[in-house]
Amino acid sequence: MEEKTAVILQKNNQYAVECHTKISTLCLGNGEYCDSEEDAILWVEYECWIDSGEGWICTTCHEMAMNNLVKMRYQQEAEKPQKPKPEDGLNYDLEKGIETVL
Ligand SMILES: [Zn+2]
Repeated sequence: MEEKTAVILQKNNQYAVECHTKISTLCLGNGEYCDSEEDAILWVEYECWIDSGEGWICTTCHEMAMNNLVKMRYQQEAEKPQKPKPEDGLNYDLEKGIETVL
């Protein structure tokens, strides 16, 4: 069986998966408390939490992370240097001028 990396909270013999990031102020912090770790993981899977590989991220935090990512991409796009202007033919004229002199 594949080992899932999840932070499991335990309280009164009940288990809940903790949100990995908790970056959103609306984050619940953890999933519903269930009778077993397996059920707790099933609960977050059912709720469409995202398995980041390092832990489970609740949908609220994931949505916020995605929004941040889009914002970051947008900023990077805006900061990209402008394409250099095409040569205005100055060098070509200069060479041609020298040739004419010789
Ligand atoms: Zn969260």
